[in-house]
Amino acid sequence: MLNVESIRNDFPILKQGFTYLDSAASSLTPEQVVLKEMEFYRLYRANVERGVHRWSQKASEEYENAHEIVSKFINASGPENIAMLRNTTEGINLVANSLDWKKTDNIVTTIIEHHSNFITWLRVSQKRGCKINLVKSSKEGLFDLHDFEKMINDNTKLVAVTGVSNVLGVITPIKEIIKIAHEHNALVLVDGAQSVPHIKTDVKDLKVDFLSFSGHKMLGPTGSGGLYIANDFLLNTEPLCIGGGTITDVSIDSFEFAAPPMKFEAGTPAIAQVIGLGEACIYLQQVGMDNVSNWDHVLAKKLVDGLLEIEGVEVYGPHDPKQRVGLATFNIKNMNPHDVALTLDTEYDIGIRSGHHCALPLMKELFQIKEGNARASTYLYNTKNEIEKLLSAVEEIAH
Ligand code: PMP
Repeated sequence: MLNVESIRNDFPILKQGFTYLDSAASSLTPEQVVLKEMEFYRLYRANVERGVHRWSQKASEEYENAHEIVSKFINASGPENIAMLRNTTEGINLVANSLDWKKTDNIVTTIIEHHSNFITWLRVSQKRGCKINLVKSSKEGLFDLHDFEKMINDNTKLVAVTGVSNVLGVITPIKEIIKIAHEHNALVLVDGAQSVPHIKTDVKDLKVDFLSFSGHKMLGPTGSGGLYIANDFLLNTEPLCIGGGTITDVSIDSFEFAAPPMKFEAGTPAIAQVIGLGEACIYLQQVGMDNVSNWDHVLAKKLVDGLLEIEGVEVYGPHDPKQRVGLATFNIKNMNPHDVALTLDTEYDIGIRSGHHCALPLMKELFQIKEGNARASTYLYNTKNEIEKLLSAVEEIAH
């Protein structure tokens, strides 16, 4: 079990007394990560991979080391498998732009996806004529694997699926889905925005082809994120942007790409952020991802059980805490979710998210509620007391 009180000491922002229950949107950042970023600005603030002088050398060393740390965090073969990008969205777009789409291809995705992992494929479909095969879930966000078996066929080029729903909190059976996809030689991209921060991720065990994730949701700085690319696709995957840093040679009429990961990281990268993300992975590893997941289940149980007991509150997603991360969405009868969130902020000092959570197809299909719902999401620094505080506030607002 993790020691939440000692963890909270690493997050001075929490001393303000505000109850932050919006980590699914963006997590807080521990002092260790902030200091690591500042170390770059204070001690060796120079460009990377471009200078022979000592500051550039040191910055490059730290920058490359961050790739190594992040690759170990998800058990990739090496740093070459990790393209450091701005966020999950950029990684997904990179894959969409890189693949060689044919009209006869289809893309399998699901109704629970975030827009980043949905409209990207709609655009491919509109531009290239590929078909989208949409897998639907139960109202709780649970899947029947037979539906994937029906939708994935030999024309499926890519299966794009989230590891965890940012609306329902539900954990997707990605390992089983990847197995089905590979039986048809289809590639799999996992949107790890909500899963990598909460669940120990082993890309080798999963046999995933592409995994995109956001540093800012896993204690890292904003503007940091990663795209894991499996060894088989490192050579053929095209960068989203090209330019400085992405080549080994250029002539008047040709150029040669640098070895990965540098070929994916055009221009001066977000150096401090990448170094900070490495430090965030060290932090999470020291706490232990199994401890993070167990704490998630403890808080999720308290949150969901408590919300279910309040009259006039509708709770979405599975009730079994083992099927979800620390995230619950709900609505209070006859109240707009934004009003609920605003009241929690102004009258109770609690921060949650409200709205459609960038998942409009899910909202319209499963709930017929375009205005969305209220979402409380937890991370390793949240306490049971904070959940109790939220529950009593929701109870008061509902009555
Ligand atoms: N996918 C999911 C499931 C998400 O929750 C989010 C962030 N809300 C994203 C993708 C996009 O992440 P980012 O904004 O960091 O690109």
